[in-house]
Amino acid sequence: MNEELRREILGDPDFSTILEDFERGLEHASSVEEIEELRRAFVSRKGRITELLKRLPTLEPGERRRVGRLGNLLKDYVEKTVARRLSDVREMELRRTLVEEWVDITLPGDPVPRGSLHLITRVIEEIEDIFVGMGYQVVEGPEVELDYYNFEALNTPDWHPSKSLQDTFYLISPYGDYPDLLLRTHTSPVQIRVMESTRPPLYVIAPGKAYRHDVPDATHSIMMHQVEGLAVDEDISFSDLKGTLEYFTRRMFGEEREVRFRPHFFPFTEPSAEVDVSCIMCRGKGCRLCKGSGWLEIMGAGMVDPNVFRNVGYDPEEVTGFAFGMGVERIAMLKYGIPDIRLFYENDVRFLAQF
Ligand SMILES: [Zn+2]
Repeated sequence: MNEELRREILGDPDFSTILEDFERGLEHASSVEEIEELRRAFVSRKGRITELLKRLPTLEPGERRRVGRLGNLLKDYVEKTVARRLSDVREMELRRTLVEEWVDITLPGDPVPRGSLHLITRVIEEIEDIFVGMGYQVVEGPEVELDYYNFEALNTPDWHPSKSLQDTFYLISPYGDYPDLLLRTHTSPVQIRVMESTRPPLYVIAPGKAYRHDVPDATHSIMMHQVEGLAVDEDISFSDLKGTLEYFTRRMFGEEREVRFRPHFFPFTEPSAEVDVSCIMCRGKGCRLCKGSGWLEIMGAGMVDPNVFRNVGYDPEEVTGFAFGMGVERIAMLKYGIPDIRLFYENDVRFLAQF
């Protein structure tokens, strides 16, 4: 308010009282509520300035103009002062809140240890990558399997020792036994399931868990991971099998590795072979890892037995194929020099974090 106006207002007894009361009230009003209250007391419909202006019609013209002008200027002053004061108080309250509820976002947080994929998962993905690069598809199947898919469809007769109660987990419940249900002993049943639902050509790998009634030691576990593969097409020969598995082995263990195929027997392939890779420690000279032989066995493989094709409705005169299977733990142990299979399952982060 400029000095001239202030002098004029203070010269009028009614207006000067109002101005002094307002300014004194403002000095003591510290909260938003108190300031709002002050505003209502002076400029609302029943405020003191409004009441004063209501008397205008009763005044003579000269006085009416003077009182009207001063009243409106004072009203304007009160409203602007209140608005400015309200915004100051609100800002102060905001600052106080910020100080009281301040959180230092620059302080370091509680550390969250960074996890990583388990070595077994990593090796499975490595194997998958190599085969997917050759055009294979990744397929999965159930771990609780029917006897038919685990043994019978794979040309494994009832008298076969791997079917014995000592070697396989059969499912038993208080409501009765289920002689047909078992924990799969290999991932081969997935191959049967895929062949039943698909027509050739077929190029698949099946990674997953398999279960054996083994006594755990450095190289045996009741649960382990396998990757099995199957290729079915016209004119697939043993040389396709050799080429595919040599390529895989060198990608997995190094280009300089030698690969060897040794005749072997599996019920569901004929002819069958075990696949060896030249020892990664001694490079074939003979050491403790390879027990002096210079070779490490890494998987079994063979041409699919025609009986297996007949079981799934494929014509063995039209298609041929090969199958292979490897233990993921064994591959990981050989590749990374791990001496005991149990290390994979003990969940000791000091071991797992190395990979
Ligand atoms: Zn060796």
